[in-house]
Amino acid sequence: MAYTYDDQNIFAKILRGEIPNDTVLETEHSLAFRDITPQAPHHVLVIPKGPYVTYDHFAAEASDAEIVDYTRAVGQICQILGLEEDGFRLISNAGRAGVQEVPHLHVHILAGRPLGRMLDKA
Ligand code: AMP
Repeated sequence: MAYTYDDQNIFAKILRGEIPNDTVLETEHSLAFRDITPQAPHHVLVIPKGPYVTYDHFAAEASDAEIVDYTRAVGQICQILGLEEDGFRLISNAGRAGVQEVPHLHVHILAGRPLGRMLDKA
């Protein structure tokens, strides 16, 4: 499958420094920042710096170094926020069915309150 990356998406603009963000962690290949519309007391987005649309795109085309960096960045955020004891949820929406608003890979890290069941049954 060919993935098409739109470099005008809002996270691409954040990565270019064109719009501000509330950074929690920056690594060589990844950036983590607070979601502008938090849905839990902790709501952090982790994105790779490379131009990847979705998780499957990243898994297929990113370098090993990018994948290791990104995976570790997600884990580091959990440590920075102190989430080990109470737990957290990771979500990565992709495409139409996943209702992805921003077409640059991101993992949502949500925590700080009971998050309910994983999916609405509706
Ligand atoms: P998704 O529906 O998975 O694509 O989620 C996109 C997320 O990006 C939403 O939770 C938005 O609140 C968040 N978001 C959009 N613009 C910004 C921004 N400028 N800074 C931080 N988070 C943002």
